[in-house]
Amino acid sequence: MDNMKLAALLFPQPLKTPEEWEAIYPPRQLPPGAVVTRMAPSPTGFVHLGNVVQGLASERLAHQSGGVLFLRIEDTDAKREVPGAVEVLISSLSHYRIRFDEGATAKGDVGAYGPYRQRERAPIYHTYAKKLVEEGRAYPCFCSEEELAEIHAKQEAEKDNFGYFGKWAKWRDRPLSEIEAELEKGTPWVLRFRSEGSEERKIRFVDLIKGEMELTENCMDHVLLKSDGIPTYHFAHAVDDHLMRTTHVVRGDEWLPTLPFHLQLFDALGFAKPKYLHIGPLQKMDGDSKRKLSKRKDPEAALTYYRREGYPVASVYEYLLGVLNSNFEDWRRANPDLPADAFPFSAKKMNPAGSLFDEAKLRDTSKNVVSRMTADEAYELTLAWAKENDADWAAVLEENPGTALAALAIGRGGKKPRKDIAVWSEVKGYIGYLFDGCFGYADELPDWDRADAARALNAFAALYDPADDNTAWFEKIKGVTERLGYTTDMKAYKADPAAFRGSVADVSAFVRYAVTGRLNSPDLCELMRILGRERCVARLKALADKLGG
Ligand code: GLU
Repeated sequence: MDNMKLAALLFPQPLKTPEEWEAIYPPRQLPPGAVVTRMAPSPTGFVHLGNVVQGLASERLAHQSGGVLFLRIEDTDAKREVPGAVEVLISSLSHYRIRFDEGATAKGDVGAYGPYRQRERAPIYHTYAKKLVEEGRAYPCFCSEEELAEIHAKQEAEKDNFGYFGKWAKWRDRPLSEIEAELEKGTPWVLRFRSEGSEERKIRFVDLIKGEMELTENCMDHVLLKSDGIPTYHFAHAVDDHLMRTTHVVRGDEWLPTLPFHLQLFDALGFAKPKYLHIGPLQKMDGDSKRKLSKRKDPEAALTYYRREGYPVASVYEYLLGVLNSNFEDWRRANPDLPADAFPFSAKKMNPAGSLFDEAKLRDTSKNVVSRMTADEAYELTLAWAKENDADWAAVLEENPGTALAALAIGRGGKKPRKDIAVWSEVKGYIGYLFDGCFGYADELPDWDRADAARALNAFAALYDPADDNTAWFEKIKGVTERLGYTTDMKAYKADPAAFRGSVADVSAFVRYAVTGRLNSPDLCELMRILGRERCVARLKALADKLGG
């Protein structure tokens, strides 16, 4: 077979030589040990939490080593593409602090190794496809869908493996004359890799997360270029990662089965192989067993979920670092005040089987993160969330910044800050009752003695003075307690509740419920001071009236 002639027939257009591309994309000048890595998502419109996990690992590896992280858009599968998906990808990744040094951006490409959108790289792929044909490592295949289906059916009948290989590879060894005849007829063709692998042989491979592995060689003549000349992921990533000078490929472990093919491709193309890190999928507990976090079944698999719920970016970031490296939590305890990106991330500490995602833990992390914020930060971020999700609430916050800030400041700072808020969507429930428009009895009225409660509320309304400090405030609560015939001796009450009509805790609860509409709240005396005398008295009396006092 005259490979040169075949290559010229398949690729008649003028193309640059591999050497020319090499010169356009020279090796990067970086310090030794610098990691060059990338995120290479397909713009399907859905950003999975796993994308961020992968992005975060890549970002840490690159930036901790003085290297480069770039974004490449793998848009070769037009069928899966959703309009606007690239913008969504870029904005959601940057929202979660995945900082790219180069690549596709909302304003076009940045960097010397582009284009960074695969659909714009056709001439580059064609150079290398042609080279493979010239060297006898690739050939055109004219099988129609029907013929491929026929092969599949026969393989099924013969209980052979499925795929295009060995005796099934119809076009692998056809004479040039037959190929020319098909080309003349205009029969569509795909370009296939001529595999020299055998499924009888194993290859050894070291993955930086999974360690040493043994994989079966690839014997399939996989497709490199589809009939429209667009490359498959396999071929495109090899060409791109070589010319973009990627040193480490960080990707999901669903690519492991095709890794032997990828390694063959790098060899056939004469490229040095990058190092690989195959990340296991994010999993969750489902009953007693673990399963993959599923785009279909689990709303929390979608990145949009976290933004909508109002998880602070810092919480998601911090939590995911813990998901990636289990020693992060110890580090955080030892270094409570350092920024999260001071943590020395290590690929070696990643769980080869994939990590467990646990939203309850994310909430705990988030409560800690929020408790370390200033009231101003909490206010600004709550407002930003409300603007995106609850316009009425945003307006209330903007009209009453003083009240909101004062409420958010309660229990903040100091050694043991309050940890009530995990997500910004909870803030309305937490402080919303301070604003008349949002006030309501959110908790159900407990089974109190209504007349007692009404008496206590009226009595306290008459005594209440915002100028009282916490001690004076509580003395007044105690005074009301005694007048009601309830006890202020909590020890005695707890030892024998039946001996008393009620306790000082009940009286506090009446007041709390009247003022906040709930049974739990931050420091009540401080809350009442923020509300002011008029509002407090009105609310105390309103509940007293409701209870029939
Ligand atoms: N486009 C591939 C994907 O979305 C990229 C895999 C890779 O990072 O190489 O899964």
